[in-house]
Amino acid sequence: MSATVYYEKDADLNIIKGKKICVLGYGSQGRAHAMNLHDSGLDVVVGLREGSKTAAQAQADGLKWEPMAQAVASADMIMFLVPDPSQPAVYEEFVKPVCKPGLTLLFAHGFNVHYGQIVPPPEVDVIMVAPKGPGKLVRDLYAAGQGVPCLVAIEQDASGQALGTGLAYALGIGGARAGVIETSFKEETETDLFGEQAVLCGGVSALMKAGFETLVEAGYAPEMAYFECINEMKLIVDLIYQGGLKHMRRYISDTAKYGDITRGPRIVDDYVRAEMGRILEEIQDGSFAREWVLENQANRPRYNALLKREAEHPVEEVGDRLRAMMKWLG
Ligand code: NAD
Ligand code: MG
Repeated sequence: MSATVYYEKDADLNIIKGKKICVLGYGSQGRAHAMNLHDSGLDVVVGLREGSKTAAQAQADGLKWEPMAQAVASADMIMFLVPDPSQPAVYEEFVKPVCKPGLTLLFAHGFNVHYGQIVPPPEVDVIMVAPKGPGKLVRDLYAAGQGVPCLVAIEQDASGQALGTGLAYALGIGGARAGVIETSFKEETETDLFGEQAVLCGGVSALMKAGFETLVEAGYAPEMAYFECINEMKLIVDLIYQGGLKHMRRYISDTAKYGDITRGPRIVDDYVRAEMGRILEEIQDGSFAREWVLENQANRPRYNALLKREAEHPVEEVGDRLRAMMKWLG
């Protein structure tokens, strides 16, 4: 079943004009949202920690900023754009005390609400507006009169106006100019985690390392292995990004294509598919979320140890040397 998509004509900025919008955090997404909303003629205040280093940046960008407690006090809408693991503490300390009928809480990722790390009272609206791109692109495309497609989801609709509010916000940051796809907190959270674990981050890095190790263990030069199994990934992914798998296959040789369609399915075989299914189950039943929340509470011992081991993998050393030959990378 295809998702419902909303466009500029479905969104009415007037719904949130004059409302006080508080953007918490001024990182990748925070800066883009705050600047775009401001340029859309909306009333924005950036909420920052006491002594925040980004206050000067917000000021230089022409935005009003306040310490979090002050910024949330008079807000009609509060968007959470601090890192996901920090959001529950920010909610408990600053936002929970100001929750009241008429308040709208917004998120750009569903993790904390879906897994019950933030449980807003029933009298507030809870909405997700999540751009499908990094903050810099959200800002740059807005400034160019375009926008990055967004997701919209409604978790709580106390006012009966939550969808209109979400679409207005999506228009304010430019997303509705491109299209706003309707989803749920559950669907966004589970598909996001699955994608980054099984395919984008976990899957791709494990695949590249295994290819590199296979060639090096068979006696081939690590430099050759790095170029073939890691560096060239970008060329292939750029073609797929541009026009899909079919477009990529127009640009590779017939030999590459034959190897692709006959050998690829042997790499991602029934075992890999079954493991993907198990990873998805751990996401759906909350066991991944519990593991990650506990890991954070323990100050991330496993996270730190595994990342350190990853950083010591030979691909990093070979990559550093080869990139030094590619001056254009800057
Ligand atoms: P970020 O790390 O770039 O920025 C977070 C900001 O919060 C920074 O200004 C940081 O200084 C501040 N901060 C850090 N810890 C804090 C704390 N304890 N209290 C207060 N402020 C703190 O984060 P981001 O990538 O912009 O992500 C924000 C939200 O947007 C997340 O929910 C994320 O899942 C979502 N999101 C990100 C992207 C992306 O591409 N980066 C895309 C879609 C959605
Ligand atoms: Mg993700």
